This record gives sequence, structure tokens and C-alpha cells, in this order.
Amino acid sequence: MQKHARVVVVGGGCVGAGILYGLARRGWTDVALLERTQLTAGSTWHAAGLVPSYTRNFNVGRMIAKTIEIYEGLEADTSQNVGWHKCGQLRLANSRERLDEFTSYMSVAEAQGTRAELLSPAEARKLWPLLAHEKMLAALYNPDDGHIAPADVTQAMAKGARDRGAKIYLETEVKGFERTASGEWKITTNRGDITCEHVVCATGNYARQTGAMLGLEIPAIPIIHQYWITEAIPELVERKQQGLPEMPILRDEHVEGYIRQEGDGLMFGPYERTENLKLFAEDGVPDWFGADLLEEDFDSVSVNWEHAVELLPVLGRAGIKANVRGPFQMTADELPLMGPAWGLRNVWLAEGVPGGILWGGTIGYYLSERIVEGANSVDTSDLDPRRFGDYANKAWTKEKVREAWGTHALLHYPGESLPAARPQKTAPSYDRLSELGARWGVLNGWEFPNWYCPEGVDNDGAYSWRWTNYDKYIGEEVRAVRSAVGLVEMTPMTKFEVSGPAARQWLDGILANRLPKLGRLNLSHHLTKNGGVQAEYIVACLAADLFYLISTPRAERWNFDELSKLLPQDGSVLLRNVTNDRGCFTIVGPKAREVLQPLTEIDLSNEAFPWFTVKSGTVGLASDVRLLRVNYEGELGWELYHPLCYQRHLLDQLLAVGEEHGLRPVGLYALESLRLEKSFKAMFRDLNPELTAWESSIDRFIALEKGDFIGRDALVRQKEKGVEWRLVTIAIETQGASALMNEGVYQNGKLVGRITSGGFAHTLGRDVAFALLPVNLGEIGTALEVPILGERRNATVIADSPYDPQSLRSRS
Ligand SMILES: Cc1cc2nc3c(=O)[nH]c(=O)nc-3n(C[C@H](O)[C@H](O)[C@H](O)COP(=O)(O)OP(=O)(O)OC[C@H]3O[C@@H](n4cnc5c(N)ncnc54)[C@H](O)[C@@H]3O)c2cc1C
Repeated sequence: MQKHARVVVVGGGCVGAGILYGLARRGWTDVALLERTQLTAGSTWHAAGLVPSYTRNFNVGRMIAKTIEIYEGLEADTSQNVGWHKCGQLRLANSRERLDEFTSYMSVAEAQGTRAELLSPAEARKLWPLLAHEKMLAALYNPDDGHIAPADVTQAMAKGARDRGAKIYLETEVKGFERTASGEWKITTNRGDITCEHVVCATGNYARQTGAMLGLEIPAIPIIHQYWITEAIPELVERKQQGLPEMPILRDEHVEGYIRQEGDGLMFGPYERTENLKLFAEDGVPDWFGADLLEEDFDSVSVNWEHAVELLPVLGRAGIKANVRGPFQMTADELPLMGPAWGLRNVWLAEGVPGGILWGGTIGYYLSERIVEGANSVDTSDLDPRRFGDYANKAWTKEKVREAWGTHALLHYPGESLPAARPQKTAPSYDRLSELGARWGVLNGWEFPNWYCPEGVDNDGAYSWRWTNYDKYIGEEVRAVRSAVGLVEMTPMTKFEVSGPAARQWLDGILANRLPKLGRLNLSHHLTKNGGVQAEYIVACLAADLFYLISTPRAERWNFDELSKLLPQDGSVLLRNVTNDRGCFTIVGPKAREVLQPLTEIDLSNEAFPWFTVKSGTVGLASDVRLLRVNYEGELGWELYHPLCYQRHLLDQLLAVGEEHGLRPVGLYALESLRLEKSFKAMFRDLNPELTAWESSIDRFIALEKGDFIGRDALVRQKEKGVEWRLVTIAIETQGASALMNEGVYQNGKLVGRITSGGFAHTLGRDVAFALLPVNLGEIGTALEVPILGERRNATVIADSPYDPQSLRSRS
């Protein structure tokens, strides 16, 4: 084996081969892949080979399209047949909720670039004449989906990489990783050592073991899944003889599984419900397990079989030829972990990949792009491994993975937080806010109130694609903030302290805004080298050498990792994650001052404590409270960051004083409405690493003139060239359902842009959304249309901040 390579990929499944291919195609040919046995010997060889493009997630949809594009080009590139059957995919909707889901998806698909059609039952039966189906309301058809031969596609990508100079070492098991003095990685194997600049881990079911060698707890656990293949079915043989095309892959919400043609028979892959779902290799893949299958388990999916036979009587008459049952990796959100490993330089993860055939091409393309180019051309943040935090330990992952895969085929709704492994992270306010009616969701493992159900009202807050019967209470919360005062539990916010003699200079070289002076705060962004927004911070200057940074909950591990990797080696800057040490309540609304002032000696008058300033002191009996005169709701208000030990006391005090001022606890849903009315953007939706600062219209926070910062050059170049897209605020006239995110935006029926986030603005009485539009369509008054649950709604570009445009209320 060679002694050195620029990149070493560990694992020779579809994902590892995809990465090797991706790197080689980008011209990095001094790359090697190490595989402990043979290529495809992990989960890859026995996969069903399905490549489904259905997802409402704009970025995920675009990424999956890349897999299809790459696989379709493989034969020309490598002369290998990869068994690609572009038969399409058909999903049957039997309930109104499922139809809502599909209809909502239709407003996203075109923006993603995915072909999709909503078919009538008669049209669906034309594609699948063997269906005996009474209940179908409609069907969703993705004509570009298909299935591929998993081993062949892996081998083809391996060949494509080898042809370009990449090396593959079989029977080579990685036993350990060590960082060398020069900053490279020495990898120990059963066949000697190899040193490299970059390590990529793509070890399938072994992910937790691989992670352990690197000191990482990988938030993935394999689940066990199976499919059956039938003997030849006369009706299918006859179709073939007549020269009829292969029927689309079929999914039905009652069957909870997939059915496709396989040779002259059928393949049926039912999804195991949580209660029947088995995990695999919880304590590591056992030594006896190689390219093996596991014993058939009919009982766990017998109900799916019954439903499948009702749907397709031919299935019931067919003999069974084979059962294929094996493990593959699963994560809590059923998305891969692709991107940088936290805390380690030049270690990249392509682990926890549920659907490695579906994802192999994508991960190969985008992870290699990230490694070679230093940033991605599209927003891959939904796959970034650092979207999970320390809470995603093994016990948590086991429960969440069982829930995720075990409800895979069930109805899911926007914004839902599923119940497994909860409550896990709670602030001391939890019980008290529960008494006040909090209906909880989850952010970064923390329980976070979505809304509050008033006493005496019986409402469990069921999720929906449409306006719900609890929207009126959310409206009341919004009104309380606009007319009196609200208390928002914001403890899950990510909080860092940056200190030390070089703190100011170091942060200044990273963040795009000027740093605030002592006692002041501002909003500042950490950009990618391409000028995209990878983090948004409120930065407060607490002392000459102490800054307090607040960012979105989900970014805790990500932001800490990015900043840690930029720290100077000389110890002149210290970065601390104080997220778990400090809670936060926002007291916001015209009466906020009246609630807070009796509890503190700090003068809260506008003169003494103006907008965008910070002071520390005592509130009630709570010491060391950091009061930030800033908020996301667009009213007079303070965010109170306090040591968590004082939280119960502080809450009781605020509720007691607040009572006479009409203080109401306010949840996340109201917060969304409030921030949209103010055109305040949200990270990972309106702001993301793909859209540059100009495109996401955060110009006023970019201080080009201050000197160098990360991403500045790219912004200067883009400004010179001309910015082509802009994020603008639009108003949508709608009823019964709101824009969510990712919907296409149309003008005279032509797709012109997309929504990055939206919702009902309770104060304004209509939907408000952010839309990414070509610059020439960003003029105020431009007429647009947005499809919401199948209806084209009229929309108009409006000025930013439709509520209190001058922010006079926040500054009052
Ligand atoms: C019944 C069934 C049906 C499925 N159907 C589909 C489908 O239709 N579509 C789809 O996309 N997915 C499907 N899957 C899932 C799919 O099989 C996996 O997601 C995919 O194979 C994972 O690919 P991978 O490259 O990540 O992992 P693997 O294929 O498991 O490859 C990992 C490789 O890493 C090697 N390795 C591990 N540790 C080391 C080490 N220390 N040193 C060197 N090498 C190491 C292993 O030997 C292995 O070869 C199915 C799975 C099952 C069980």
C-alpha cells in the first residue's frame, strides 16, 4: 500500500465509491480508498436500489437530482452498465391529509427542478393497471425516479475513479487515526500505515466504531429492513411480451412500503413500524457479520402484507423467491451526516447514510466539492453532521431512529416534533410553563414552547398543513406582544463567550460587521469564503476583552466548531460555550419597561439604556443577568440572559409583576409571526451558506470598508459583477392555509423565484413571506402568485418591515 495520499476514503460502499469518484472527477487523483473486505460488502450489495426524489425540502430535492444526473452519466463515462431503470414512482393518497401533503409538495417541486404530477385515480390506474384500489383520492407521480443495481453503480464509480488515477485497497481495515505533528492524519491499517491530508469516513454500519476511533459519538444507529421478491407473475410476463413499459415504483399510504417490478416478478419492501422495528449493531457490528443477510421476519410486517395484497391481488397469488433482510444506517431525521467532523481538522463524515444508493452520487459530488473548493455551491446545511449536538448520544439516537424509520410511511406535518426521547433537555422553567399551558416542541434537544393553550380549553395542538384551531390563541399571543407584554422562553439559544487580549481583533477578522463598542451590541455574520451566511450572531461587548455571542439553537455545535477551528494557537483568545449555563427570557411589548423596572436598579429609561445596548446586573434576586436591549419581535423589549440557577426565581418574579400589565407567555409560533411582520430573517431558511450576504439582503450588516473579513473578497467581486437575486418581503392574500417555505413564486404563471420562509402575520391579517427573486422583480408593487395547497394566491412585493418600518416601537 502507498504511504501517502492527499485524501483517504475509508469504506467501499456506494457512498465511499461515490466520494472517490467525486474527488477524482474534480482532478484530485492522489486519493485512496481503504475497504476492510470487498467493495459493496457492507449494506450496499443487498439494497433495493430505489432512487426516490420526493421531498418537500428544497435543498434535499436539488441534491437528489444530482445523484440521478451522475448515475445517468456513468455508463458514458465508464462503459459500465449500472442497471438504471427510469420507471418513475407513483404514490397513492387515500386521505385528505396525504393529499394536502402532496399538494403542498407540488408547490415546491418545480422550484426544486423535480418533475412531478398530481394524477387522478384513473390516470394512476393507467400507469398501474393491476391496482385494485377503491380508496385512492389521487396519486403523485415523479417520472424521473427509478431503481439502479447497487453493486453495479458502486463498481462503476470505483472504475471511474480508478481510471483517473485513484487507488483502491481491499481487505484493508482501518484500525486507528492519529494526528501527526505536521497536521496530517496517520491511518493505521492491518496492511500498514498511510498518511494523508484529509480523511473521509464512509463506513456504513461501522460509523459509531469509526467515530469512536476519532473520539466522536456519531448520531446514527443501524436499523433492520427487508424486502421480498416474488416468482414470475403471469400478468407481468404478459406486459413484457406486449412491449409495455415497466410500471412505476408504487407506494401506498396504507401499505406502508414500496412495490416495484423485479425481473418478471415483484419486489415488496414494507416499512416496519416503531413497535416492530429492530436495531442492529447497537454495540458495534459483530465480528461474525460480513456480507450476510439476516433471518426473514414476516411477523413484524404482516399487516403491511395484508394491505399490499388488498391493493395488488396478484401479489397474493405469487410465490416467494427470496427474502432480503439486512441492516443499514439511520439518523434521527433520516438524512445523512455529510460534512466536517466537529473538533477535528480535515476529517469529513459521510456516515449515517439512510439510503446510500439514493445519496451516493450526491454525497460524492458535494462532499468532494466541499473538500476541494472549501465551500459548497448549494446549501447542504441540512446534511451537515453538526446539526446535532451533544444531546444526540446513543440512548437518544436509538429512540429517535426507531421513531424516524418506524413512522417513515406515516403522515408527517410541517414543524412537528415527534414524542420519542422527550423531554430530554429542559430549563428550570419547564414545569411552570407547562402549568401555564405550554405545548412543547424541540430545538437542539431543548423543549421549547410552541404555543400556550389557555386554561379550560381542550386542545392538543394537532399539526396540520392548514390553519389550525389553535391559531386564534397564537393570534392572542401576538396581540399581547403588540399591545401589552409577552414573555418568551429563549433558553435554547446558542451562547458563546469570546475573551482574551486578542478577542476583538480575532472576531473582527471573522465577522462581516464592525464590532460593537463597549456596552453596545449588533448583528454580525460569519460568512463562507463565497460570501454565503454560515452563522448569524448577536454580538454584545461586555468588556474590552469579553464578547457575548448569541446564535440560533440548531447551530450550537456547528458554530462552536467553525469558530474553534479559527482560534489562534497562542492562547490569546478563549472561546467558551455557555449555552447550558445561561437561560434567557425575552420580556417584550410596550409594557416591558413597566414589568422589568420594579425588579432592577438598572435604569431602563430610553436615555440610560437605549436600543442595541447591553448592561449586566441584578434582576429580582438573580445576579449576573445580562440584559440586551434587542429582540426578534419588533417591540420595546429586553432579552435577559441569566445563570440558569436563578431561572425559577426570575420566572416567578416576572409572572408576578407582569400580571397587572397583561403579561402573556408567548411561544415559537407567535414569534414566527412577529418576526415576519418585521422582516427579521431566520438562519437556515432566509439566511444560509448558499445565498451571499447581498442575495439575502443583509447589506446593512456588512461593513466592507472596515477591512478584511472572511468572505469579503467574494462580496466585492459579486458587487462589481452585479447581484442578480435578492431576498424581498412579499404579502400574500390567502385563506385557510399559509406559505411555509420553499414554495415556488410565479409571475403570470411562470416560475420566477421561491419562498424561503413565510406564515400568517396576525397583526397584518395576511401572509408575509421572504421571496428570493431576480433583482428586476424585487420592485415594490410587483404582482406575483404563490401556490398554496393547490391554489394560486395573489402576492405583491412590499417594503421590508411592514409592521413599524422605522422600528420606532423597538427604540421607544
Ligand atoms: C433491505 C434493504 C433495502 C434497501 N434499499 C435501499 C434502496 O432502495 N435505496 C437506497 O438508497 N438504499 C437502500 N438501502 C440502504 C442502503 O443499503 C445503505 O444505505 C447503503 O448501502 C449505505 O452505503 P454506505 O456506502 O454508506 O455503507 P456500506 O455499503 O455499508 O459500506 C461501508 C463500507 O465500509 C467498510 N468499512 C467499515 N469499517 C471499515 C474500516 N474500519 N476500515 C475499512 N473499511 C471499513 C465496510 O466493510 C463497508 O464495505 C437498503 C438497505 C436494506 C437493508
